[in-house]
Amino acid sequence: MSKRRTESIEYVFAPGATPAVAVAGTEAIFPVNRVYCVGSNYREHAREMGSSLREPPCFFSKPADAVCALETIPYPPMTHNLHHEAELVIALSSGGADIPVGQALERVFGYAVGVDLTRRDLQAESKKQGRPWTTAKAFDHSAPLSAIRRVAECGDPENASIRLEVNGEVRQEASTGDMTWSVGEIIAELSRYFELKAGDLIFTGTPSGVGPLLPGDRVECSIDAVGSLSFTLEE
Ligand code: MN
Repeated sequence: MSKRRTESIEYVFAPGATPAVAVAGTEAIFPVNRVYCVGSNYREHAREMGSSLREPPCFFSKPADAVCALETIPYPPMTHNLHHEAELVIALSSGGADIPVGQALERVFGYAVGVDLTRRDLQAESKKQGRPWTTAKAFDHSAPLSAIRRVAECGDPENASIRLEVNGEVRQEASTGDMTWSVGEIIAELSRYFELKAGDLIFTGTPSGVGPLLPGDRVECSIDAVGSLSFTLEE
């Protein structure tokens, strides 16, 4: 397409801003392309959710604009059982299809701390009915995220402590070394289903200890070397 032609594009209304995430230690921001998530990826959480171990990873997704860095997050409608899921999040600087496990980490731009907010009541109903998880997982503000730390600064967090507190009480505490599928394995497996792109984020699953959040709750989540994230649910 010629330059002239490009300049002549006329949208029927102004497109929304590209969702983006801060990059720790820089003024630059990371533009979000897609948000993928892994279902149960820690043995103890798989047990608490009643699924068996070392099944192939189950993937779902959230819209890019579900990512947020708000100090106060609205308590979502249509649920009476909102759950927190502390997760290591992979941020990709390049992608591809059928990426070999041995080359997967070359695609990593950095890592962030995320909370996969989940309407657990809707998820339970979806599982029972064999329906998609969209309303349980992909709602507005369902992906609070810390700034991304470049891999050059934090390394690949293979045995990092991951921790989530609600109102100062520890609810989730584990090591990323407890993940059933490693960062490289997740990228490789996901790329068999989707051609991954620069800007993709991947939530890697949560350890055990998931539980309900109430309006007014203060959530603090951290991963050693990667960073931390905190927010309050609106009253
Ligand atoms: Mn999750």
